Amino acid sequence: MSTRVVIVPDRPFDDGVAEGRKREGSALKAEIRTLLGDPLLKPTLGSMSLKALAADILSRLETPPDTRRFPELGELYPDRLDYLRGLAKGAKRPLSEAALWHYLRYRLEIQRWYQAYNDLSALMESPPEVQSSHCSGVLLVGPEGVLGAHSMESPPPQRRPTAYRWKAPPPFEPLRLRKPRTPRTLTLVKPRTGYIQDWGVVNEKGVGCCCSNSCGVWLDEPIEDTWPLHNVPLLRWATTASHLAELYQRYTLHNWGRASQIWADIHGQGVVIEKSFRRIGIRRIGADGILWCTEGHWESPEMNAYLRQKRLEFLRRTGRHLGSDDMQYATDCAVRFTRLGELCHEPLGKGIAHMNRILTDHAPFPRAICRHGGPDTAAYDQTVTQMATMKNLSHNHAYERAWVPWRRFPCQVPWTLIHYPPIPG
Ligand SMILES: [Zn+2]
Repeated sequence: MSTRVVIVPDRPFDDGVAEGRKREGSALKAEIRTLLGDPLLKPTLGSMSLKALAADILSRLETPPDTRRFPELGELYPDRLDYLRGLAKGAKRPLSEAALWHYLRYRLEIQRWYQAYNDLSALMESPPEVQSSHCSGVLLVGPEGVLGAHSMESPPPQRRPTAYRWKAPPPFEPLRLRKPRTPRTLTLVKPRTGYIQDWGVVNEKGVGCCCSNSCGVWLDEPIEDTWPLHNVPLLRWATTASHLAELYQRYTLHNWGRASQIWADIHGQGVVIEKSFRRIGIRRIGADGILWCTEGHWESPEMNAYLRQKRLEFLRRTGRHLGSDDMQYATDCAVRFTRLGELCHEPLGKGIAHMNRILTDHAPFPRAICRHGGPDTAAYDQTVTQMATMKNLSHNHAYERAWVPWRRFPCQVPWTLIHYPPIPG
């Protein structure tokens, strides 16, 4: 059976109207008051008059972006304006009020993120939880195509049943696949300019994200306020993975996230983007066709140095050391990063079977990629692999398998496989 592809135009104005309708009448104003009363906004924006604030936001909205430095924003800006105009229409309120509501939500979000990583008094009062997730990503370019993978680890959300007994896993598990499926219909959203961003596993030009592993730095630098031009959709313009990296560098302030991510394309280019708020580091794939990354560890010289320096500053100011509670993973992540490199370089063909071998690796803690934490493992080794994905960018195939709580680990479950239709051209 083949997939029916339906392409629909992106309509930011209509999306805005739909959002606005949910807040018709006085709801928008009530939410604005609540937002301005938040302790993070009250001393600054909350102390301005509503009228002055709304006028200020409106003038920001009406200032076009610098398209010499940021050419793509010339295409994005009309969309953002349309969305906010639609929002005002749907809510039946003036544009200035809709824009203010939208801005305050954004501003509070970036304040919260910044605060979470910088308020040492809050960190000392309630120390951060043990950094116990251990996501990893891999890229292999071989005869079966360009393959990306993501292994997702965190402490189990479900309570362990009392009868559960932990068993040591074998060194690794064989590859098992279910019969491939094809979606009946694939609905794709086409922006007014640029490419369809999500065509199965890649964009219209064959560029996609293989994984995103969160990684934060204590005492990070402030997040730039770029409203309304935040979250710039890079896949709307990226034609190759190198182009994506160039765009990411250009928009590092607009897209402020914190992670290690692998981006690749169907031509076999690949990059790891290492990112924390304002900063960015880029690692490119080498002639060996292998690239990998691990949560909590940055390898590019600039990001590695930044993380190290900030960790040491955090320790000095809090009186901790690198082996204490939440810091032990600073070391563990580097060990796991090294283990991944070792597995990637084994002569196993750089195909799906090789990728499966990497994702089912059960080396002793903390090297293991597939995690089977349980009641009999040490207190710091309670992580469970919740899910794993693989993508074949060249053929637009997606693989997935998930933990069946306390019954089967992902490595004991066959891969579910979805064949998306090939991208055009
Ligand atoms: Zn396993």
